[in-house]
Amino acid sequence: MNFIFSGIAQGSSYLSPYAYGVLHRLHHAYADTELDPHSPKYQSNIFAMMARTKRIYTSIVQGKADVDERFKKDLPKWTTFDNFADSWAVRLSWAAFYIAFYVVFATHWWLFLLLPIHFIMGPVHGAVINWFAHKYGYRNFNVEDTSRNIMPVDIFMLGEGYHNNHHKHSGRANFGTKWHEFDPVYPFILLFNALHIIRLRKVATSEV
Ligand SMILES: [Zn+2]
Ligand SMILES: [Zn+2]
Repeated sequence: MNFIFSGIAQGSSYLSPYAYGVLHRLHHAYADTELDPHSPKYQSNIFAMMARTKRIYTSIVQGKADVDERFKKDLPKWTTFDNFADSWAVRLSWAAFYIAFYVVFATHWWLFLLLPIHFIMGPVHGAVINWFAHKYGYRNFNVEDTSRNIMPVDIFMLGEGYHNNHHKHSGRANFGTKWHEFDPVYPFILLFNALHIIRLRKVATSEV
């Protein structure tokens, strides 16, 4: 199910939930060390970091990465769907759909300039967090890595910008900790949990 919803939500910039899961576990385990798949500490610019992330991500997708079993454990895997959503036919169909949407709904020509962001939304979102939230912003917790909260009220990254909080409490579904740090996605997580679409673990709703 999470593969299908990822396919719809990410469209042309689909990333495999399985491979991203492995990648993200590696990031938490080795944050800001040389084994971190993406750290601004070891790359000179954001594009070099994205290139390294892509290389490691691709090797996980292809099953070539030498990754410890504990990073793969319990992650859902659906290779057939990954191959389908990752194909050029599907990616270009999504791109054509976005263009058609703009042709119908865009009210000014300059709005079309936003289209490239839609095409590569997944990597753009990832890079913004992985680069800027490990470089700029404030810290609530003095953790060992360089994670920071980008904005006191994170509306643009939908809560993921509270990255320092997330590194401190990585199992928690609510990324906000201070009164002003509203996580816009958290109410939806609670709703989906109540509707039994997802099942939150105890740690996800704990306040400590
Ligand atoms: Zn991080
Ligand atoms: Zn995380």
